[in-house]
Amino acid sequence: METRQLILSPAEARIMEQGFRVVRRSVDARQRDIRVLLTVLADEHGNLLPREAEVPLYSKPVYPDVSGSAQEALVVGAGPAGLFAALTLLEHGIRPVIIERGRDVSARKRDIARLNRNMGLDPSSNYCFGEGGAGTFSDGKLFSRSKKRGDMQRVMELFHFFGAPDTVLYETHAHIGSDLLPNIIRSMRECLCAHGAEFRFGTLFDRLDPSLPTVLAIGHSAHDTYRFLAQEGVAMEAKGCAMGVRVEHPQALVNRLMYHLGGRPSDEAAALVENLGNASYSLVTQVSGTGVYSFCMCPGGHIVPAASAPETVIVNGMSARLRNSPYANSGIVVSVPPAGPAMQALAWQESLEHEAWLQAREVLGSSLQAQAPAQRLADFVEGRPSASLPACSFLPGIVPSRLDRWLPPEIGAFLRRGFRDFDRKYPGFLTNDAVVLGVESRTSSPVRLLRDPLTMQSLSHPFLYPCGEGAGYAGGITSSALDGIKAALQLCSRVQSSV
Ligand SMILES: Cc1cc2nc3c(=O)[nH]c(=O)nc-3n(C[C@H](O)[C@H](O)[C@H](O)COP(=O)(O)OP(=O)(O)OC[C@H]3O[C@@H](n4cnc5c(N)ncnc54)[C@H](O)[C@@H]3O)c2cc1C
Repeated sequence: METRQLILSPAEARIMEQGFRVVRRSVDARQRDIRVLLTVLADEHGNLLPREAEVPLYSKPVYPDVSGSAQEALVVGAGPAGLFAALTLLEHGIRPVIIERGRDVSARKRDIARLNRNMGLDPSSNYCFGEGGAGTFSDGKLFSRSKKRGDMQRVMELFHFFGAPDTVLYETHAHIGSDLLPNIIRSMRECLCAHGAEFRFGTLFDRLDPSLPTVLAIGHSAHDTYRFLAQEGVAMEAKGCAMGVRVEHPQALVNRLMYHLGGRPSDEAAALVENLGNASYSLVTQVSGTGVYSFCMCPGGHIVPAASAPETVIVNGMSARLRNSPYANSGIVVSVPPAGPAMQALAWQESLEHEAWLQAREVLGSSLQAQAPAQRLADFVEGRPSASLPACSFLPGIVPSRLDRWLPPEIGAFLRRGFRDFDRKYPGFLTNDAVVLGVESRTSSPVRLLRDPLTMQSLSHPFLYPCGEGAGYAGGITSSALDGIKAALQLCSRVQSSV
């Protein structure tokens, strides 16, 4: 089997992709002449293989039945880190018992629908907590900024094995979509249970049991669990995080800027978008040595209420498989260096999330549920109130607020300069057709649970294997999944060498 590399126009690439077996696809939209780079499979005579050719794409996982296994491990949290850790334990013959504070994915869907309709927040079942973790009702972008995080391709293969579309195997910027993710997560659970694993939903991890090897994959939103772990003396430190806003533009504007549509005939512009899908962006700038950057950009997506505690407003973004809403949103955040003890970092984050809630309440009064404070983008940058707000994808609703005044001055100043820089790069980005919502506070954990770099055991509690985003070693679905696999492998080798 050989591969052929092709550099094509978006229209040509779409036709090739529909007919032939593609193993890599990336888009270069830096220039007006947008190119798609495709790698396709060919046989030994150089003939391209048709899409339906029977070629094994990867080795499928084989899971033993562990129902009678004497070797057991606890997995705390059913997010990407916990689920991939559980699958790895299963593969190695250890019976995983997965405890999850939230509800199963079907019940969780209903809780999230209620939250979006301003019918109340369930603190244990929301956008962050519940089966699949923060990764379930996320955008489902499957890429990691780091190239050194182990076998990313294996994570993609497992997602594919459990139901993700073929594109996750070859897209450089693979994306699943929040409409498909719940079924994939359900398939993982069904496979685990069919082979003897056990799930306990609605179960809070609040007791340490040194006799039970434990993968600790709690995500970055379980502040109560961090506090419990701190009281128990689990080794941790403050870590750098980020704080900012979520900005939303009309998707048509982002398409125009990123695909250089200005000056093109309208049918050509429409065909480009049709062939490439809605455009995304990734922006970064340095303001006086501090990073300001876009985070979790969701083309054709929705802004979502990502709070898991009452009286807080936290925003994040997601999109469905087709990415076809008329909105483009992204976090725009400022890097915040670690300062002070770990618990202080949590308190600072929480104080801003509560402030966002207070600011919305000031406008809405006691009827406030999950609405978010918002300001038009140019007004935010120029320090003016917004007389009205544009249409926005955020289902609970937005209320006008002076984010320029109540965000911490240093964060606000960095954001303003960052937006001006982004506008210099993409003139038109800084516009009052866009809106900013506060606060985007949970881009990563402000705490790191300290562990041995080789054995991955907690420095204070060797039966604990802290991993994933909540442990401070990952930042996204793929890297959390990989970290969960690595932690589980270390746990397996320790348990199995002690037999
Ligand atoms: C709206 C949204 C969109 C996102 N979009 C993307 C994206 O497109 N691409 C991407 O790579 N990343 C995205 N992310 C981030 C991504 O979801 C996380 O990085 C990832 O889920 C972290 O995985 P994890 O397993 O470490 O933790 P989590 O997914 O947070 O899972 C932790 C789990 O542990 C459970 N838990 C916590 N404490 C306890 C306890 N004491 N007892 C029992 N259970 C507990 C929680 O309920 C949760 O289910 C998004 C996040 C959000 C909120």
